[in-house]
Amino acid sequence: MNESTPSDTPSSDGVSGVPSATKSGLMQLVDLDSEHPATKAIGTALMRLKQTAPDSVISPPHIHVTESSVVAVVRRHDMWEQARQQLDDVAAELQLDPNAHAMLRHPKRTLEVAVPVRMDTGKVQVFQGYRVHHNLYRGPAKGGIRYHHEVSMEEVKALAMLMTWKCALMNIPYGGAKGGVVVDPSKLSDGELERLTRRFTSEIMPIIGPDRDIPAPDMGTNAQTMAWMADTYSMTIGHSVPQVVTGKPVSIGGSLGRTEATGRGVSYMAAAIARERGLNMKDLRVAVQGAGNVGSYTARTLQEMGAKIIAISDVHGGVFNGDGIDAAKVFNAMGPKSKLADFCPGEALTNEQLLTLDCEILVPAALGGVITEANAGEVRAKIIVEGANGPTTTEADKILHQRGVLVVPDILANAGGVTVSYFEWVQGIQSYFWELDEIYSRLNRIMQKAFAAMWELSEKERIPMRSAALRIAVGRVADAAKQMGLFP
Ligand code: NAD
Repeated sequence: MNESTPSDTPSSDGVSGVPSATKSGLMQLVDLDSEHPATKAIGTALMRLKQTAPDSVISPPHIHVTESSVVAVVRRHDMWEQARQQLDDVAAELQLDPNAHAMLRHPKRTLEVAVPVRMDTGKVQVFQGYRVHHNLYRGPAKGGIRYHHEVSMEEVKALAMLMTWKCALMNIPYGGAKGGVVVDPSKLSDGELERLTRRFTSEIMPIIGPDRDIPAPDMGTNAQTMAWMADTYSMTIGHSVPQVVTGKPVSIGGSLGRTEATGRGVSYMAAAIARERGLNMKDLRVAVQGAGNVGSYTARTLQEMGAKIIAISDVHGGVFNGDGIDAAKVFNAMGPKSKLADFCPGEALTNEQLLTLDCEILVPAALGGVITEANAGEVRAKIIVEGANGPTTTEADKILHQRGVLVVPDILANAGGVTVSYFEWVQGIQSYFWELDEIYSRLNRIMQKAFAAMWELSEKERIPMRSAALRIAVGRVADAAKQMGLFP
């Protein structure tokens, strides 16, 4: 286990030279700084593409490499610096106690593990895994586990910090955590995924537990992953401890409503901002990037509320249908490994085109760092509701603000998931389970309360919603830090 020791000096410089490099093309970027993690990630992605599809790098349209897609990859690897910069800005605005500020700039604990897995071929493959606790002043650590081939320690640290702010904004008693494994889960068999999950759980056992750190699903993981984690933990401890994770199947102590909670919460927040802007649900045209847990339930719920879903995408690309996509029909027909385009009739479009569609509401619900300085000027949506974590970079945020595009920030918009995870944890500890209508109504109440506080501050101070949400959240964590004092 490493206690991380990053520099104490606030820094605002991202990847120096990268934006200009992206203008002159991907290959020059790869040549630019071979040691930078973003450059390495792009290099690795290119190598993989060269092996799997030798023609793809040099012959579009198999791979669509544009300036904004390269900037997006670079920015994802910049997320930790951006998260810290965000904190520094809020600390200055709140005139935060410098001692509390200094402590909040560091993750409390970072753990990097090797995860050896016997593959179906009989060979052993070693995967890289991470778990980070950002802060524990307000309660045990809470945060998802991501399986994605681009996961990095920097990204996990940034996402753990975001979880601290998210839990504080929702006023639920947790600190922030995040975890991940560098793997493309679509390339593994079910057996390989189970062995990977069980070994990863075993490797992070020293820092997880029902009153220490409670993982949940994120990109590339789901209720089945959580069931394997709960079983591995319980078998090791010697008795049943399902409360060690949330987002479990209902049959082993999961909560009703958890699967759809994040997408439902995104929809509540889309409806709340539409209400403030005087927009009717039936007049809303919505584009959703991502057709996984968050994207699919956002599309389904907004459709139920009367909005028209005009575009959705997955990793392979998007589908546009100006007459409206029947999200319920599409997602009822799809299985976990289905390709969206095979089930969703409409015109094909790229993930980048989807981000700049003419619509009232854009919901990025896939990866972080997709709305960047390279495409923010082209966004035509009136409102962005962030289903994904960190989809908008700091530079893009400024451009969108100047252009009058409203952004409902991730730490509020996608907080439905962690809120119902909290309900699941509470129900598990009490061994007393609630009805679905009770869960939805409690979720709505908590989210509307957080929205109202953020909106009021944003209007009063004439600041973007993200700044208002962060001021509330960071203020609460700093207050907890002050009350706790410094050990020893
Ligand atoms: P998921 O794995 O269920 O789905 C991800 C979707 O994104 C899939 O449709 C996939 O095809 C698509 N995708 C992957 N790479 C892409 C790319 N390069 N371009 C476009 N689409 C791509 O994941 P999820 O749980 O829905 O999570 C999505 C986002 O929401 C993540 O940022 C996650 O951190 C955030 N989030 C999830 C939850 C949750 O409860 N699951 C809660 C809060 C936030």
